[in-house]
Amino acid sequence: MLSSLSYFVFSTKKGNYYVYDNETGIVYPITEIQKEILELYRHQYSIEYIKNILEKKYIPKEIDKEIDNIKLISSKYKLFVPQSAPEIHCNIEEVNKKKGIRQLILVVTENCNLRCKYCIYSGHYEMHRTHSKNYMPIEIAKKSVDFYFNYNSEYIETNPQNQLCIGFYGGEPLLNFELIKNIVHYVNAKYNQNDILYTITTNGTLLNDEKIRFLVDNNFSINISLDGSQIEHDRNRVYANNLGTHGDVLENIKKLYKIEKESKKPNKNEFKIMTCFDHKSNLLEVSDFFDNNVYLKNRHARIMKIIPDKTTYCSSDDKNPFIKKLHTQFQQSYEKNKQSFISTFFGPQYTLLFSRDFYKVNPTRGNCIPGSKLVVDYQGNFHMCDKMSNNYPIGNIHTGFNYKIMKQFMNSFYENISNHCKDCNVSRLCMLCFANCEDKSGEFKVDKTICERNKSSLPMNLSNLYSLLEENPNLFNDAI
Ligand code: SF4
Ligand code: SF4
Repeated sequence: MLSSLSYFVFSTKKGNYYVYDNETGIVYPITEIQKEILELYRHQYSIEYIKNILEKKYIPKEIDKEIDNIKLISSKYKLFVPQSAPEIHCNIEEVNKKKGIRQLILVVTENCNLRCKYCIYSGHYEMHRTHSKNYMPIEIAKKSVDFYFNYNSEYIETNPQNQLCIGFYGGEPLLNFELIKNIVHYVNAKYNQNDILYTITTNGTLLNDEKIRFLVDNNFSINISLDGSQIEHDRNRVYANNLGTHGDVLENIKKLYKIEKESKKPNKNEFKIMTCFDHKSNLLEVSDFFDNNVYLKNRHARIMKIIPDKTTYCSSDDKNPFIKKLHTQFQQSYEKNKQSFISTFFGPQYTLLFSRDFYKVNPTRGNCIPGSKLVVDYQGNFHMCDKMSNNYPIGNIHTGFNYKIMKQFMNSFYENISNHCKDCNVSRLCMLCFANCEDKSGEFKVDKTICERNKSSLPMNLSNLYSLLEENPNLFNDAI
């Protein structure tokens, strides 16, 4: 099935023009006349008609020359052809068995000692659960680990380089520290596997000497949430009594920093920071805070936008100017904090754009295949992603993966996007995934608000990115 021509033209701050070809991922510099030709051609006007229109502005010889040049680059790089339909059929069972499960994530408790205002479990998000006092029993955790090791055993033999990874997630996972300790001992005793990567995402308030030493000794990759200066952080990240957590988190980070430095273990993982920002954040202030703190500089694992969709956390009045403000502030903070700038403002699809693997590996977009990652809730039910609600279980520790339901989810998602997105000229840049398409019906549906925002912001991002590249052609040498 063929659909329409899939490219768009954009300009940079210096006034230079480029064309982005969605089918190949190629971005090519073009002249002003080429830009006008391509814009008209995209509306499927004939070459003769395009020439007639442009002859009012340019001399015919020049137009002919530029049409020839476009034909040349088009045949050389296979640009400006009708977009092919996304490849939607894949045998999940076969793919998962071949690749194994990348990561096991144990949701060790649904409880948390904080009540962050933007938390996905705050009750402001229509699809998601709220905080509860549920804790994962040790037997469920052990069975999950056994399932993970058994499933991957064939894969480990054929791909010994692949590192197994077990993550502990919540709520606040350190509220179930005993289980975490038990699981590490269980894995060591039963599987004798030294190179497991353990990860934990914590709010940092419960870290003490004992916990820090255990995590550091077992080479955990520790991710701590910290949103910047006290004002920025405490605006959202508060205890249940509404008091800010900034002071406690920072103190614990200093302890962790010291213990890590004293640790004699070679190849140890260094703790990382996760920062969230929302429509009220002052990003320049956030950036300054991290740059000027010796414990925190260059420690970021991720910086995430609180996406104002399907939530009552902020009103629609807050949402509208949000994207514009982001663009301006990130543009200004770029010179100060290149690393965070690249990974947050532009998102991973832009760095992948430069490596081209995106196009080879994933013919559709950035989403994963159900089962490539395994999230287990406190009752032992399997879920495909930690960013998703519990409304789409894909199996459990007793019966394993339910491939029938996984195929149904996959089909529901791809059928919806292949209908909705087939003519879209930014589809390869759009990172819409299962988590954005959850719907009360139990199917997956493209959210029209997210779609419209992506259609306008993705070309704008590309234009900003190329404006920066013109200033600094080595941008990606440091970032990738
Ligand atoms: S620490 Fe995490 S789980 Fe707890 S309230 Fe804050 S965002 Fe939610
Ligand atoms: S969701 Fe919208 S922007 Fe994204 S690929 Fe589909 S049509 Fe394009």
